[in-house]
This record gives sequence, C-alpha cells and structure tokens, in this order.
Amino acid sequence: MKNAVLAAIGDELLSGARLERNANFMAGNFHAKGINVKRIEIISDEEEEIISLLSRWIGKTDVLIISGGLGPTHDDKTRYAVAKYLGCGLKPDDESYDRILARVKDDPRRYAYTESVRDPQAMIPELAETVCNPAGFALGMKFTRDGTKVIALPGVPFEYEAMIRQELPEIFTHDERRTASVIILDTPEMHIAQKIPEVINHSGLHVSILPAFPQVELIIRGEPDIVSWAEEITHSKFEGLVLPEGSKSLADAVLIEARKKDIHVACAESCTGGLVGGALTEIAGSSDVFNGSAVTYSNESKYKILGVKLDTLEKFGAVSSECACEMAEGAMKIYGADYAVSITGIAGPDGGSESKPVGTVWFGVAGVNGTHSAMKNLPGKREEVRTRAVRFALAELWKEIRR
Ligand code: ATP
Ligand code: MG
Repeated sequence: MKNAVLAAIGDELLSGARLERNANFMAGNFHAKGINVKRIEIISDEEEEIISLLSRWIGKTDVLIISGGLGPTHDDKTRYAVAKYLGCGLKPDDESYDRILARVKDDPRRYAYTESVRDPQAMIPELAETVCNPAGFALGMKFTRDGTKVIALPGVPFEYEAMIRQELPEIFTHDERRTASVIILDTPEMHIAQKIPEVINHSGLHVSILPAFPQVELIIRGEPDIVSWAEEITHSKFEGLVLPEGSKSLADAVLIEARKKDIHVACAESCTGGLVGGALTEIAGSSDVFNGSAVTYSNESKYKILGVKLDTLEKFGAVSSECACEMAEGAMKIYGADYAVSITGIAGPDGGSESKPVGTVWFGVAGVNGTHSAMKNLPGKREEVRTRAVRFALAELWKEIRR
C-alpha cells in the first residue's frame, strides 16, 4: 500500500457542528507508516455525494477509507450508495449481526432496540464483504475494485478506530517514521526558525511550526534516528525554554516538574472558570501533585474563599496585580500547596473599559520564592482570551516550579 484517500460523511462535519476525527486519526497513522495520504474529503449525507466519491477515487488510490453513514437513521446512506455503485442489491448478514446481538442479550431494552434495527443495520451490498464491529452495532463493509480497496466504517470514533485496527493491523505495528513534538516557550516563531536551520532545512525531516501563545510547538517528522537528533539539537539550543522530553502539553510539563520536585500545586481562577484545573486533571494521575482549583468568579467569592482583602478589591479592582497576588496566595493556603497560580481578567465581550480593555488578564504566581504577578493583553474573542490565559498561567507556573 503506497497511498490512501480518507473520507468522512456527515452534515454535522460540514456545518462545523462537530470536529472531524476519524480521517484525522488515520492520516496520522498512515503518515507514520510512510503511506501518502493523497486527499482527505468531507462530504454530506447524500447518496449522490457518496457515489461520486467512489467514482472519483476507485482506480486512483490503493485504499479508500470512508467513515459514517452506516447507522439506522434516514441520513445513513452509505450502504445504499455502495450497492448502487457496485450495481447490486443488499442482503442481510444475519450471522454477523447475531454476534452483535449476543453482546446485549442480558439487556432486554437494548436487545429489543438492536433487533428492531436489524434492517437496515445488518444489510450489506451483495458484492461487498462484512466488516465486523467489535465496539458498536453497525456493520461495516469492504470490497476491492480496480485495484482500490474500499473500507466503509461507522463514524462513531471509537467504533471506527476499533474496526480499522482490525482491518489494517499492519498499519498499527511499529512506526517506520516517527513524529516528535517539541514545545518552546516565549520565543517568536521566526527566531526559532533562525536558531535551528539545520533542523528546519534537513531534507529528511518535515517540520511544522505551530504557534499558540505563549508557546510554539514544533512537530518534527521523519526517520526515528534523524528525529531524535533534531530533538536533541532543539533541546540544547532552547535550554530553559523548552518543555521536557515526553511532556505533551504545558499541563503535562507542570505535573512532571511537580512530581520531580515532590511538591503540590493549586490554582485560583476567575475568568477561566476552572479551565486550568480542567487542563491539569485531563491528565490521568494528576491527583498526586494537583490539589485543586478554586473557581472564584465573583468578588465576594474571592474575598470569602481566597481571603482577598476587601480593601484590595475596592482600591484596585478584581482585575489587578494586587488581587491576582492575593488570589494565588489564598489558593496556596486553602489547598496546602507549595505553588499556586491565579488568573483574573476580562474575557469579554463585555466588561472592558478604557484602562482595562477586553483581554486584560492578570496572573499571580505564589510559591516558595514569594509572589509575583504579570499582566497580558490577550487578543481574540472570549474563547481565545480564555484558552490563551490558561496556557500562559500554566507556563508561568511551570517556570516558577523550575526556578
Ligand atoms: P454510524 O451510525 O454508522 O456510526 P454515522 O457516523 O453517520 O454512522 P451518526 O449517527 O451520524 O452515525 O454519528 C454518530 C456520532 O459520531 C455523532 O456524534 C457524530 O457526530 C460522530 N461522528 C461521525 N463521524 C465522525 C467523524 N468523522 N469524526 C468525529 N465524529 C464523528
Ligand atoms: Mg453521520
């Protein structure tokens, strides 16, 4: 197999209501195996669109993997489109479907429902083969035409993944190419490119530079030895600013560093409403170093829970260096942590003023070296201001723990 085309069916993907995950997942795995993904297509839940997809790619790619449209509802058209394309009818694969039914035999409600959608869920085009579903209820299908292997799978991501692992096990064995991620803080992307030209321009590597304030992520792909060499050079050139090897994100780096030093961390959040705590607890095992995050949105909660002085709130306001410092110190105290980070700002769209426009965010960091604060004017809409604030807070916390 040299090349592949990936397709995802779903109006919800085209309208932006859901983020596409299946083709994205396979693109990463194909890439790791050195298989060229020629195209990723997202198409609507329409029979003609699916037939046109098949006509477009059959004979032109080694494999075409299609996700979605295999459920029992009116918008699930893949099986009919495949049958039409192959010029055949549909037949039930009761044997495969009975195996799915057997999994729910002890649950009368699910059993009855699954039985009631046997038609169409068990229907397979006569000229295609069944792809069994170990994780869900819809059968998949596959056939080969004009040198193209076509595999159509349900769109629910964990079903898609389980079934493609079963169908193409060779793709999931050890990687011939490796992808490494190196995250660098507080360095403009152009400076990064200038400092490591030997990595950026290496003919055996493909390097993507992805800035996301206050970090820039380098995604380095290539043969394992060359990628390791590139990682080493990058780490040595950006010492102190690069997240440790093996950390996949800022939150991950904070947890790794805290574990290394055997210390505990906490947060106090206003405009991010718990997103920092969310980022830390997203990572399994965070409980050994993360104590908690106080979501103190109102002034009253800042005062009552964190012990921010009324005087401070009156004199400087909640969005101030003073308040940020007292929030961090308060969080450190109530959670019995060694370090704490705080966030208080104006995420917008309302609430800004001339002296404190939308995007003004104060951060406090408290720890064994005392307390300090920093202010950032973060660009973007509410969502961007909040996600940027989360990353900046985690970066500040990480740097402080490392000191
Ligand atoms: P099937 O019913 O065979 O799984 P389907 O994916 O079209 O087909 P839907 O009911 O449309 O079934 O989708 C089930 C869930 O899976 C929905 O939440 C949908 O948004 C999600 N989903 C479908 N395709 C994708 C995709 N490519 N990436 C991420 N989520 C997807
Ligand atoms: Mg769908």
